[in-house]
Amino acid sequence: MSNIRFEALKSAFEHKSAVVNEPEGKVKDYFAQDVFTREKMKEYIAQEVLDQLFDDVDNGRTIHRDIAGSVAIGIRKWAIEHGATHFTHWFQPLTGGTAEKHDAFFTLDKSGALLEEFSGDSLYQQEPDASSFPNGGIRNTFEARGYSAWDPSSPVFLIGDTLCIPTVFVAYTGEALDYKTPLIRSTATLCHAAREVCAYFDKQVKHVHANLGWEQEYFLVDEALYNARPDLMLTGRTLMGHNSAKSQQLEDHYFGAIPARVLAFMRELEYEALKAGIPVKTRHNEVAPNQFEMAPIFEEVNLANDHNLLVMSIMERVAERHHFRVLLHEKPYAGVNGSGKHCNWSLATNTGVNLLAPGKNPYQNLQFITFLVNVLMAVQRHNGLLKASIVSATNEHRLGANEAPPAIISVFLGKQISAVLDKLEHATAEEAIIINAKKEMKLGVANIPEILLDNTDRNRTSPFAFTGNRFEFRAVGSSANCGAAMLALNAAVAEQLMRFKEEVDARIEQGEAKERVLFDVIKKYIVACKAIRFDGNGYSEEWKAEAAKRGLDCETSVPLVIDRYLAPQTVEMFRYTGVLSEAELQSRSEVKWETYVKKLQIESRVMGDLVVNHVLPAAKRYQTMLLQNVLAVKQVFSADETASLNEMDYSIIKQIEHHSGAIVEGVERMTDARHKANRMPDERAKAIAYHDNVLPLMAEIREHADALELIVDDEMWTLPKYRELMFIH
Ligand code: ADP
Ligand code: MG
Repeated sequence: MSNIRFEALKSAFEHKSAVVNEPEGKVKDYFAQDVFTREKMKEYIAQEVLDQLFDDVDNGRTIHRDIAGSVAIGIRKWAIEHGATHFTHWFQPLTGGTAEKHDAFFTLDKSGALLEEFSGDSLYQQEPDASSFPNGGIRNTFEARGYSAWDPSSPVFLIGDTLCIPTVFVAYTGEALDYKTPLIRSTATLCHAAREVCAYFDKQVKHVHANLGWEQEYFLVDEALYNARPDLMLTGRTLMGHNSAKSQQLEDHYFGAIPARVLAFMRELEYEALKAGIPVKTRHNEVAPNQFEMAPIFEEVNLANDHNLLVMSIMERVAERHHFRVLLHEKPYAGVNGSGKHCNWSLATNTGVNLLAPGKNPYQNLQFITFLVNVLMAVQRHNGLLKASIVSATNEHRLGANEAPPAIISVFLGKQISAVLDKLEHATAEEAIIINAKKEMKLGVANIPEILLDNTDRNRTSPFAFTGNRFEFRAVGSSANCGAAMLALNAAVAEQLMRFKEEVDARIEQGEAKERVLFDVIKKYIVACKAIRFDGNGYSEEWKAEAAKRGLDCETSVPLVIDRYLAPQTVEMFRYTGVLSEAELQSRSEVKWETYVKKLQIESRVMGDLVVNHVLPAAKRYQTMLLQNVLAVKQVFSADETASLNEMDYSIIKQIEHHSGAIVEGVERMTDARHKANRMPDERAKAIAYHDNVLPLMAEIREHADALELIVDDEMWTLPKYRELMFIH
C-alpha cells in the first residue's frame, strides 16, 4: 500500500532550487521597469495633459474625462510596446486579496474588422460582473452593478502580458465595496486636517501625507508536502499536527543563515518586486522555522498598500517556480510563532518634515508633541475600532497568544517620550514655553533631544509602539489588506486633529495667545490619554485586569469585536470625517461576519474529513496490528509470560480506542453545532455560534488527533508531520 506522506517526502527531498531568474545589471537599471512611472509618462503624454493630471492627483481632485482619454492613449502605447495584449482593472474586494478581470486591447468595429482600442472610458471605469463579490447587502444581486474606477494616484504596471490598472470598486450608488476607496478618502481628510494643524507652526506646509512601511512575514513549505495536507491547501493552516520535538526553542532559525533554496526564492522575489517598482530592502529569517520576512522602504500609504498586495501575489507566483508554497496565514502551525504584518505609520509634509519625529527648532518640537499626543488621543478613543480593523478568523489564532500582540490595544512610548510628557504634564506654561523679548519661542521642559531613535528601548509585546519617528501597528495580520487598519487609523487621527483645531481656534478667537492655548490643550490631552499608555508587559495577566479597569476594550471574541464598527463613536467619527457612511459600515461588518462564518465552516468540514478519512483509518490499522500481535503472542507464550509481555500493547490499544472514540463523538457534536449555527437568523448570530460552539470542538478533536499521531506507527501516518513541514527546505 502506498502512503501519500512518503510519496510527498520523496518529492520534497528531490526538490532543489529552480534556476534563478537572475537580475540583469544594477538595481537602478531594472527598478520600476514594469511600471508606467511619471518619468516615462513624459515620453508618451503631452506635457500640458500631465501638468493637469499631476496637479489633480496631488491635490486629490477628480480627473476630467478628456484628461483620462489622453492619458489612456499614452498608457496603451507604452503597454503594447512592452508586450501587453490585455488590460485589467485591479481592485481590492472586501474578501481580501486582489481581483482582476482581463480584457483584450482590441474590439471589433461595425463591419467586424479588428480595431485596437483602449479608450479613456475603459481606463476610467468598468463594470465587472461582480455580483459574486461580497457587499454586505449594499448591492442587491439582481442589480449586480459594481463599478471599478481608475485610481490615478497609483501608477499602472505590467504583469506579464497584462496591463494592470489600480482601481477603486464602488456600488452603483457610490458606496465603497472595497478597501481602497475609504483608504483614499481617509488620507484626503487626514491630510487636510493635518495641514490645518501644521499651520499653527509652519505656514510653508502645503501638503501632508501619511506613510506606510509594512513588514510582511510569511512561511514557506515544500509544495509536495503542502499538497499532501488537505488542511493547508483548503484553509491555509494546519488543523492538526503534533509539535515537533524541535521547533523554535533554540531560536537558531532567527539568527541562522538563510537556506540556499529559500535564498534563491528570495532573490527572485526581490527581482520581481523591484521590477514592479516596489522598493524592497530587507529580508531575513523570522523566529519560527521556515518563517521569513520582507520589508520595503516606506511609501505613501495608498501606494504602499497597493505594493503590499502586489507583493503577496508575486510571492505566490515565484514560490511555485521554486516548488514552494507561501503561507500568508497568520497561524499556519500551532505552538510556533504566527505571522503578522507590522504597519509602520507616520505623517510627512511637503517641506520634508516628519511630523512624528522631534524637529530642529522649538516650533517643530512643539508640533511633534502636538501630533504625538493627538495620535494617542485618537488611539485611545478608538481602541476598539482599531482592534476591529485587524481581527479575522485567521488573525484570531495569533492575537492574545503569548507571542503576538495582545488582544488589547495600548500604546508603548518608551522612556524618553514618556519622560517628556510627564514633565509637560506638571509644568506651567511659563516653564514649558518661553517667549523672549523678540517674540521668539523657546522650549523649556518641552525640549526634546533631536535624535530619539533608541533601538534598545523597544517593547515587543506592545500592539502599537512608538519607534522614534513613527508608530508601528503590530497587530495587523500577515494575510490582511493593511488598508483596513490604515483607514481606521487615518480617520481616527483626522477626527482628533479636527477636534483639536476647533478647540484651539475657539480660544485663540477669544484673544488668548496661540502658544499658550496649544500648551494648555496638549497638557489637558496628556492627562486625558493616560489610559492608552502602557510600557509594561502586554502579555501579562495583570495587564488584562489593569486594562479592564482603565476602560480599554478587552473583548477577545472576533464576532463581538466586529461590533465596534457600529459603535456610536465609530459611526460618528466616520461620518464626521466623511470616510465611511453608516450604511457602508453596516455592510463592512456584515462581510466580516460572513467571511468569518465561511472560513470556520470550511475549517470545520476539513477537520471532519481529515480525522475520519486520515487519522481514524491509520489509528485503526495500527490498532488491528497490535491486536493481531497480542493474539499471536498468546498462542506462542504461556499465560504467565504473556501477562507482562502484553502490558504495553494493551495500554496502546486502549489509548487508541479512547482517542478514536473521542474523535468520533467530537465530530458528531461538531457537525451538530455547525448545523445549528448555519440555521441562525443572521450573519452575526452565525459568527457568534461558530466562535462559541464550533471552534472549541475543533480544538478538542485536534487534541485527540495529535495524541494519536504520537502513538501510531510512523509508517502508517499519512499526513506530513510538523517536523517535515517546518524543517525541509
Ligand atoms: P524592525 O523590524 O526593526 O521594525 P524593519 O527595518 O524590518 O525594522 O522595518 C522597518 C519598516 O519601517 C520599514 O518598512 C521602513 O521603511 C519603515 N519605516 C521607517 N521609517 C518610517 C517612517 N518614518 N514612516 C513609516 N515607515 C517607516
Ligand atoms: Mg517592525
